[in-house]
Amino acid sequence: MKELVLEALPYAEDALAPTISARTISFHYGKHHAGYVKTLNGLIAGTQYEGRPLEEIVRTAAARGDTAIFNNAAQTWNHTFYWNSLAPAGKGGAPSGNLQAAIDAAFGSFDACRDALADVAIKRFGSGWGWLVAEGGKVSVESTPNAETPIVRPGVTPLLVVDVWEHAYYLDWQNARADYVKAVVGLLDWNAASSRFGTPSSSATGK
Ligand code: MN
Repeated sequence: MKELVLEALPYAEDALAPTISARTISFHYGKHHAGYVKTLNGLIAGTQYEGRPLEEIVRTAAARGDTAIFNNAAQTWNHTFYWNSLAPAGKGGAPSGNLQAAIDAAFGSFDACRDALADVAIKRFGSGWGWLVAEGGKVSVESTPNAETPIVRPGVTPLLVVDVWEHAYYLDWQNARADYVKAVVGLLDWNAASSRFGTPSSSATGK
């Protein structure tokens, strides 16, 4: 069968230290993320989902209520997006072009945008995710519980995400989620977010 693969990290395991240690990434990427991929491949073998693109599996499983497949597919997608939402310290840049303008329009400033994203991530009760998303050329922040992901909503383009499951921070930060979130917001890849946002017309169609 054609199996889904664990996508490579975009940097070395120690590249985000000390905010996210190599030890955390070794478990988070090497065990948790890898585990979702392996479980998903087992669940979809021999089903209508086998051989389909990951995003299609997420959306179809959500629509059909195939909970186990949805959870493992969405966690696979969300984690790949999380690794690609972060960059080593000093490498993430700042919003540019259309994204800079959209952030100013929505939040008033880049700092206020970062504060708003940190706030929704810190306040997510239990396991979940804090997101910066684009829809119709506008940007906003939101959080989702468990494996829930904005990609199931037509026209919504995720720009960045912060994982606030305890496994994302407990080895490095223990119970201090707010400290982890504030530190990790400083590692977000705004160059990537600016590229994902693109032009307002393209983000409105989810491309
Ligand atoms: Mn995680």
